[in-house]
Parts: sequence; C-alpha cells; structure tokens
Amino acid sequence: MEHCDFACSSCYLTPIANRTRPLPFEEVRKQLDVLRDGLGPQGKVQITAGEVTLLDPPELGRIVSYARKIGLDPMVMTNGQRFEEVPGYLASLVRDHGLQKVAFHVDVTQHGRKGDHHFGREAALHKVRDRFAAMIRMVRKETGRRLHGAHTVTVTGENLDQVPDIVQWALENHDAFRMISFQPVADVGRTRDLPDPGVSLDSVWTKIREAVGVPLNRFALQFGHPSCNIVCPLFVITLGERREIIQCVPEGDSQGRKVMSRLLSTAGGLPPLGSHRVRGVLRIAAALRSRPGLPSAAAAGTGTGPIAAVQGGSGSSPDPGGSPVHERR
Ligand code: SF4
Repeated sequence: MEHCDFACSSCYLTPIANRTRPLPFEEVRKQLDVLRDGLGPQGKVQITAGEVTLLDPPELGRIVSYARKIGLDPMVMTNGQRFEEVPGYLASLVRDHGLQKVAFHVDVTQHGRKGDHHFGREAALHKVRDRFAAMIRMVRKETGRRLHGAHTVTVTGENLDQVPDIVQWALENHDAFRMISFQPVADVGRTRDLPDPGVSLDSVWTKIREAVGVPLNRFALQFGHPSCNIVCPLFVITLGERREIIQCVPEGDSQGRKVMSRLLSTAGGLPPLGSHRVRGVLRIAAALRSRPGLPSAAAAGTGTGPIAAVQGGSGSSPDPGGSPVHERR
C-alpha cells in the first residue's frame, strides 16, 4: 500500500501514492518470509508503505503478529495521527499482537496533522512530541508490556538550525523515546523540498554535537554505509535536576566499539526502560562489567538514552533495538 493521509514536502512515496490498494495479507506474508530468511532470528523489520495505521487495527495487527510469530522484530512506522484518532489502537498492537517498537515521524516538513496545521518551528511541534511520549508511557502502563519509541525527523534548510531544539527534547524524554534519527532531505519519491547544499550528514551531525554539549564520537558504531550513516549510542543519567550524558564508545575506544556492536547484536538491543528500567540497567551493567573496554561510568548508569543517528536519505532509520535495519521506510 502506498497511501498516506499526510502530504509532507519530503516524502519517499512515489507519485502513484494514494492510488494503490493495500497488498493482500498473503503477499505481505511472503515478503516477511523472505525477510526472515535473509535477516535471521530477531531480524529488524520496519512495517511501512505510507501510513500503515490507516489499515484497520486487526489488519495491521495480523501483520505484526505474523512477523513476531516467524521470529522477526517489527517496528511500526507512523506519523501518529491515527493512533490519536482511534482509541486503543496502539495498545491493542502491543497487548494483542506483541508489538514492542514504534517510530513516530514529526517535523516541520509535514502537512496534514489535524488541528496543528503547519507550525513552522520545530519547538512549536514539541506539544505533538509530548503527546506521543505520553501515549507510549500510557500504553506501557495499561498493558504492562514493553514498548520502545523512536523518533524520525527529516532535516531540510528550513529546520537545520532547529536540530538542537529537537535533541534537547529527546534528552528530556529519553524514558519514552530511545532513539532519534535525523535524515537529511534527499531527492527521493515525491519530495518537493529542493536539495540544499547546506544540509548534509556533516552539517546535521555538527548540530547534534552542539546540542548534546559533549564531544561525540562520530565512529562509535557503524550501521550501513559510513558515508550515509552516523550512529552514536549514549547513556543519559538523570538524577533529580541533574543530567549526565555518557558516551558508550568514546573516541579512540576501538575495543569498546567492538564490544558495543557485539552487545547490541547478542543482547537483543539496549535494555528496556519504563517499568523494566532497573532490570534493564542491571542487565546491561552486567554485560558491560564482563567485557573490558567500555567506560565504567556507563555500567553505573540509571537510565539509557536516545541513540542519536544521522542518515543520508529521507525515510530510513536504524532500529532502537540495536541492529541494522535492512528495509527502507
Ligand atoms: S513522509 Fe511519511 S507521513 Fe509524510 S507523507 Fe510521506 S509517508 Fe506520509
């Protein structure tokens, strides 16, 4: 299905979007089978094709359930609007179908969000981000299940200077959103935003570094091609009003990078947060203690924070569970 209720100025969908029918479930099932063969157990799969929450909840739930059943780790990619309109939709995916990961796309390139129109400034969209953070927390509480949030942002010449505002918001909401992915605008699909020579992997990365306020290791982890991806895992420790940010793999720590990569691929991703926070931190702390080469402060952390990621090309993102994603949004 190439269908969406939004008309973002940067969009990977093709010009035939909104004129196609959803694929029959049998076809989706075959695609998932192929992905399972290629990716192996716990392969990360993004469920997308436009706005998949436009499907009726049982239809999307069937896809999520099947992905889980064959051993994939699905993430639903969404602009979030339908989750706000249909009470209980996200909770049912989590409780009844085993969904553990959801990615919300929010930025000023979007057009179509009801009631909000076009905000112009990223800071004005924090109220939308706040609603999704609250939704994640509420669904965790209601269902007693694990749910990890990711946040995707397209970066154009219009909002490049506002990347630090979004990073600050993500740091403050790291309990709900475990990963934030910035994607510099690319000339794909039906994108109308013109390529901006000032918007590049490097310029976005510079803005992220400014916002975090500690020198970040550009080569902390590698997902995909190094010319197209920068991924930096961080621990965010909040003690009352105080916040500490610790890099999992500081610059020059090649052993730490190997260990982190292995940890992410063997431990099923970063530890869960919310109600599982303490158990999760203990799990990662134990893993870190048993492996030399990572900063000891990380093992003493009381929370884990967003993996800041920058990627070339609108619409793809790594998975907050920690492994590369092989399917483009
Ligand atoms: S970028 Fe995503 S939310 Fe925006 S129009 Fe395209 S599919 Fe819809």
